[in-house]
Amino acid sequence: MNRVRFAPSPTGHLHIGGARTALFNYLFAKKYSGTFILRIEDTDELRSTDESVKSIYESMQWLGLNWDEGAMPDGSEKGSFGPYVQSAREAAGIYKKYADELLENGRAYHCYCTPAELDEMRKKAQLEKRPPKYEGLCRNLSEAKKRELEAQGRKPVIRFRMPDDGVTGWNDLIHSEVKFENKLLYDFIMVKASGYPTYNFACVIDDHLMEITHVIRGDDHISNTPLQINIYQALGWKVPELAHLSMILGPDGTRLSKRHGATSVGEYRNQGYLPQTMRNYLALLGWSTVDSQQIFKEGELEEKFDLKGCQKSPAIFDPVKLNWMNGEYIRQHSKEKLLEIAMPYIQAAGLPVDKSPVPLVDIVALEQEKYKLLSEIPTLIEFFFRDVKYDPAAVEKTLKNPEAKKILEGIRETYASLGQFKEIEIEAATRAFAKANAFKAGQVFHPVRVAVSGRTDGPTLFRMIEYLGRENVLRRLTHATTLL
Ligand code: GLU
Repeated sequence: MNRVRFAPSPTGHLHIGGARTALFNYLFAKKYSGTFILRIEDTDELRSTDESVKSIYESMQWLGLNWDEGAMPDGSEKGSFGPYVQSAREAAGIYKKYADELLENGRAYHCYCTPAELDEMRKKAQLEKRPPKYEGLCRNLSEAKKRELEAQGRKPVIRFRMPDDGVTGWNDLIHSEVKFENKLLYDFIMVKASGYPTYNFACVIDDHLMEITHVIRGDDHISNTPLQINIYQALGWKVPELAHLSMILGPDGTRLSKRHGATSVGEYRNQGYLPQTMRNYLALLGWSTVDSQQIFKEGELEEKFDLKGCQKSPAIFDPVKLNWMNGEYIRQHSKEKLLEIAMPYIQAAGLPVDKSPVPLVDIVALEQEKYKLLSEIPTLIEFFFRDVKYDPAAVEKTLKNPEAKKILEGIRETYASLGQFKEIEIEAATRAFAKANAFKAGQVFHPVRVAVSGRTDGPTLFRMIEYLGRENVLRRLTHATTLL
């Protein structure tokens, strides 16, 4: 039975890279009927916050990445391998037990070097053109020396004793064979002076105790992996399968960051991307099917995902493709569902939709074909509910011409005397007016559109006019003539 985990450090919101890692773990678990675990790695006491934990839960739930085991937003825990939060595991003495074991069998040792001393050593190594790694100064301290250092008030950290030679390697499920020479590795800190474990140590203990079968994470962790493998070996444990996902780059080929725009899942949510879009889009960051399928139906990713389809070369985050995909998912919704998901954005914009001339659902659906983001909907439908904001360029182009006044006045009269104020009748009357006055259809349609909506583009003209209602339209036509 496969067991995988997503193990975020709660030092900020869930970002695109983290969400992609979470998704791939989730999909892997679903595909093989495995277990998806959420473990909170809050061993960075200074940077971990409860708000970050909350925000990570929220983003994962929004993306539909529900976990089978782990800490839950209501404070409870699901699963029998808990606690699932590293600070709670630390408090339970879990890491200490294994640190002690490694101290006893000589694979770990206390190090008393102060930050200032370490800094000094680093500088010296640099000057002497040696790699700036810890040289193991405290590896063989006598008990007497330790007592002396402790008497000076020094609090030790615990370091792992790395083998001096040999190679540490693994067969990565994505990167194939990866190897590091042990002499390039270093005696890393397993337990800080505060007694808190570091990531590389806690991660191994937890992955082992939680019986993780596959570690799937970003390839920014590749350099940590040989350190972790050495711990597994020192404790006589089996190393899980390892898969390192490709890096995500921005369109300019540099590592995806704030410079490229929104980075957190929450920001994408606020901008009006749908969770379906994000899942589909993230799935394609470093993974593809043989036939490069782009859009996946519900449940299809769970079925088709496979680590074999993961690439090792970097993935490029393409916002244009993301927007295209969001438009695709917006179009897949029924108009009722579209209204439901657009409503928070409409409300946030404060549009007085209770005075809607026709059911709001129909107004929102008018441009469903064109929406790319839910957040753009309020601006696009605003003219139904508020005074028209005329786009100066549109006024210049379509209203400031010698015929415009005649057209708007004529159309106003035509509409005022129309029997049924319905799309078909409006269209017929508008065309008849154009013909009778020897105008081309477009010559009439364009100024009328700008007069009633303020814009040169927008929904189907005559349906929009019907929805606006006769009174509104007549008032706007009159008002527009004053702009000429
Ligand atoms: N807490 C680590 C991170 O957020 C987890 C890395 C891992 O999956 O091992 O990067």
